[in-house]
Amino acid sequence: MMANGMYRTAAGSTVEISGEHGGIATVDFDWFEEPEACYDCVVEAYPQEWGGEEWRLVWHCENECCGGGSAALFPVTAKEMILP
Ligand SMILES: [Zn+2]
Repeated sequence: MMANGMYRTAAGSTVEISGEHGGIATVDFDWFEEPEACYDCVVEAYPQEWGGEEWRLVWHCENECCGGGSAALFPVTAKEMILP
């Protein structure tokens, strides 16, 4: 499981991990910004461990010309958080 906190992809999708054991993932997927995603993509509820310390947000797609994709997640520090 991921450590609790906020994470984001380079394109701006965010994942918030919470819960006693990091078991709660709140995924905010930006279909407009993720370069590998189309509007049919379905994002997984929890990021996937990619080996080492890397975690990736993974999405799947039934659209053959898309095929889904993934993006590395980076921890977001409190300073970088964008206030609503
Ligand atoms: Zn797609």
